[in-house]
Amino acid sequence: MHAISQRLTQQNKDVLIIRTFRSKGNPSYLNGFSRRRDVNFEKQERFSNEFIRGNHQNLSVERVAEAALPTAFGEFRISGYRSLTSTEEFVVIHKGNIAPERPTLVRIHSQCLTGDVFGSCKCDCGPQLQKAMQEIENEGLGVIVYQMQEGRGIGIINKIRAYALQDEGADTIEANERLGLGVDLRQYDQCVEILKDLNVGRVRVMSNNPEKIEAMRAGGLVVVERVPIEFEPSKDTAKYLSTKKFQMGHLLQLVS
Ligand SMILES: [Zn+2]
Repeated sequence: MHAISQRLTQQNKDVLIIRTFRSKGNPSYLNGFSRRRDVNFEKQERFSNEFIRGNHQNLSVERVAEAALPTAFGEFRISGYRSLTSTEEFVVIHKGNIAPERPTLVRIHSQCLTGDVFGSCKCDCGPQLQKAMQEIENEGLGVIVYQMQEGRGIGIINKIRAYALQDEGADTIEANERLGLGVDLRQYDQCVEILKDLNVGRVRVMSNNPEKIEAMRAGGLVVVERVPIEFEPSKDTAKYLSTKKFQMGHLLQLVS
């Protein structure tokens, strides 16, 4: 235990000990811990209140803010979540009365600054995000978890470096490998926790990525349908989409 705890960050230790506290069910243990470790008092109080209410969901994310968000597609709610085990943050767009038994349109959208914000034609991320928002608006019910892991987790600067290599002919996988980076560093567990926190139980997944669909199943959600979210390849996206289909196993029917 001692060797393990030395490898943990302080934040991870907090979560570990708070989880231990929950399993032991002893609030005085947490108070003692707080004095020793200088845990944020607000956090301590919230966990104590959860204990009193009997909320033992044991999530590793927390919702820290929520507001209304009118958009070009319609009225949505926007929520901010924080990971309790890392510095990762998540933005969630949602709409309607979500209930576990109601099949709910969901998308885990991985941040793509170039596509989502600048309208890049190198990938289909921007149109996918817009289509997901439109579908949720039409349905009146749904969730988009916006995972801020740019470039499948390598970060925006490395993504631009990878684009430079792609300018010289590399595909999206070769470019990452030549930079000594993983092809896909993303983890979806906490995105799935967020869906559960929002009361989602049965999902209609808007995704072409089998790993995201599997992550939802593994996390305990019932996948009732996959809703394809696909666009005709253009001269700019053809190579990228072909690599996604034939080397990364994405479910793309319009790519030959
Ligand atoms: Zn993109």
